[in-house]
Amino acid sequence: MEQLTMFDESKSELRNFMESEKYRKGVFKTKDELIQELSAQGKKHIYRVLSFGGGTQSSHLLEQHFKGLIHYDYIIFSDTGAEPEFIHQQVEWWRQRQKEYGNTTPFITTHHKSMERGLEEMLMRYIYTDYQRFQLPIYCNEIDKDGNEVKGGLMPRQCTVDFKIIPVKQTARRLVMESKGLKSTQRMPKDTSFIIDIGFSYDEIKRINVCQSPQFKYMYLSYPLVEENLTTNDSIQFLRENNMPDKRSRCYLCPFNCDKQGISWDEIIEEESLSFIKACWIDEQLRKVQSTGTKMMKSIPYLHYKRIPLKEAYNEKYAKLYLKHQNELTEWIIEWEQRLAEKYGVEFEVETNEIA
Ligand code: SF4
Repeated sequence: MEQLTMFDESKSELRNFMESEKYRKGVFKTKDELIQELSAQGKKHIYRVLSFGGGTQSSHLLEQHFKGLIHYDYIIFSDTGAEPEFIHQQVEWWRQRQKEYGNTTPFITTHHKSMERGLEEMLMRYIYTDYQRFQLPIYCNEIDKDGNEVKGGLMPRQCTVDFKIIPVKQTARRLVMESKGLKSTQRMPKDTSFIIDIGFSYDEIKRINVCQSPQFKYMYLSYPLVEENLTTNDSIQFLRENNMPDKRSRCYLCPFNCDKQGISWDEIIEEESLSFIKACWIDEQLRKVQSTGTKMMKSIPYLHYKRIPLKEAYNEKYAKLYLKHQNELTEWIIEWEQRLAEKYGVEFEVETNEIA
C-alpha cells in the first residue's frame, strides 16, 4: 500500500516532465544526467543534499530517503525565522521518524548567515532602520496621476533564495569542508561537487530557473518530484494516506497565504492566532514606513492579495484576536526593539503603545 501510494503511476501517466519546455531547453537536468556529467568531468565526490522545508513535498522526499530509495549525505532545514510553530512541529516529527528508522544521515537546522532571525529580522530592520533590501513577494499598489491608489505589481520572491536555498548551500559547503579538514576560506577541491534536491513538484516546473548554482559553481540543483511527474497534491495525498503530517510549509506572514491549495490565512488565524496578529502589525508598519518616503520602494505594500490591510481582510477575527494577544504582541515588539538596539544600534521612533 505504501509503495503504491508513493509511486502510483496512474496519477502521473499523463504527465511527462521531459516534454516540458524547461527540460527541453536544458534549464534543468535529471539527477542521473547530472551525475553522469559530473563523473565524466572527474568529480569523484558528489555529495547529495536534501533541502528540507518541513512541508509536504520535501517530506515526501525525506520519506523516500528513509525507505532507501534516495541517497542523501545531508538533510538541511533552513529556518526562515517566520515559519509557523506547526511547521517546526512537523520538522520535529520527521526527526523522530528518522530515529525510528535508525537512519543516521546528518539532519541539520540552519539559517540566514548574517540575519539569524531570518525574515522577521529582515522586516524589523526594514521597518526600524534605513535598511533598503526587501525580499518578500509583497503586493504593491501605485498612485495614479489623479492621486488614486491603483493595482500595481508584485515584488520579486527573493526570500526563498536568500533565506532557504542559499543557507542550505552554505551549510552543505561548510560541512563538507570541515569533513575534509579544510577551512571555509579555502577552495573546494576540484574533484568535489554537490547535488541539492529541491522539493518542487511537477505543477511547479515554472519555478525552476537554474540547474547550476549561481553562488557556488560546483553545486547543482535537481528536482526529483518533477522527475517522478508528481504534483503537490500527489505528495499531500501520499502523506495523508500514510498518516504523516501534511501541512504545507511557508512563513506565517507569506503573501502567498492565498486561501487555497492548503495555504491560507485562515489556517494561520486558526492554528496560530498570535502570528496572525504579528503579521497584521508588520503589514501596517510597512505602509507607515513607506509613507515616510525614506525607502527605495515607492509602491504601497500589502501582505494580503486583495491589496487591503490584512486586519481589514479579516476584520471581525482580527478585533477579537487583537484583544486576546495585545500584551504578547507588545512583548514581542519590545523584544525586537532590544535586539535591534543591540545588533544595529537602533534608536526608536515608533511608540509601542500606539499600536492598535
Ligand atoms: S514562504 Fe513565502 S515568505 Fe516564506 S520564504 Fe517562501 S515565499 Fe518567502
